[in-house]
Amino acid sequence: AKEAGRSQFRFYDPNMQYAARERRRLSKDLLGALDNNELLLHYQPVVDLDTHQVVKAEALIRWKHPEKGFVSPAYFIPFAEDSGMIISIGEWVFRTAADQLAKWHRSGFTQFQVGLNVSPVQFRGEGLNETEWIAYLAQLGLPGSAIVVELTERMLIDASNVTSDKLLAFRDAGIQVALDDFGTGYSSLAYLRKMDIDFLKIDQSFVRNLSTHSEDLVLCEAIVVMAHKLGLKVIAEGVETVEQRDLLAGIGCDYGQGYLFSRPIPADDFTTLLRSGL
Ligand code: C2E
Ligand code: CA
Ligand code: CA
Ligand code: CA
Repeated sequence: AKEAGRSQFRFYDPNMQYAARERRRLSKDLLGALDNNELLLHYQPVVDLDTHQVVKAEALIRWKHPEKGFVSPAYFIPFAEDSGMIISIGEWVFRTAADQLAKWHRSGFTQFQVGLNVSPVQFRGEGLNETEWIAYLAQLGLPGSAIVVELTERMLIDASNVTSDKLLAFRDAGIQVALDDFGTGYSSLAYLRKMDIDFLKIDQSFVRNLSTHSEDLVLCEAIVVMAHKLGLKVIAEGVETVEQRDLLAGIGCDYGQGYLFSRPIPADDFTTLLRSGL
């Protein structure tokens, strides 16, 4: 009876039906978003906690729906993955970010790196074409090391993906790898050993409640110590306060990213920020 009650609730809940219809509609609208120029990239600075310089940016996709306004990538990326559209979206993200990065390099920021979120779907079978990506960077005169591919632990859980040819080709081309959302989900320290990674990104859930005597500070410090012993640099996500920044700098965390420094912003605003500093 309990089971039946639950399924009835599921079936009749008007909000859920609305949500499902909404999802189908947005999923359909997303098919036209690329052609209609509704997608754009924003860039969020990553700051060196020692020098306070902006040394990298993370590219974050934005979808400006003609009627609904901005739709969160946390909401639409899963549809794009289900429909396979993430492949063409991912190509667009890569080319747009690489074109922009080449401009920044040409204007003198030659050490500047851009991080791209790459879906596990792009690493499977007919996903992204790694040879084309590498050739495109070469064509722009960018070194592979200017790009950081941000992967989630979800991707590494599939052992065949860990050694995927695409990732190995990226590594050979000097492209760097960051493990995103570290400490959440399918976390396993074994991946750190198996995978050739350059950066750990501490998930914002560990940063949110950081205070002097918090357990989260102990966890962050342990992550930093371990990462450094493994030769990795650490980026803390979701840094919103001066206190969080100072605590993270105090435990030797290398980089910070978050609203304290800047929200994700359009490329032109980012250029201004690069020229004038934070
Ligand atoms: P993520 O890779 O973990 O990106 C960080 C998210 O944290 C971004 O949300 C960013 O705007 C947000 N954030 C940054 N600083 C702060 C802060 O101080 N406080 C808080 N509360 N949040 C902060 P956003 O842009 O909504 O992106 C959400 C997720 O969507 C990303 O999480 C990533 O998983 C995915 N995503 C975004 N762009 C792309 C893309 O181009 N391709 C793919 N495959 N996924 C993307
Ligand atoms: Ca990311
Ligand atoms: Ca993250
Ligand atoms: Ca340091």
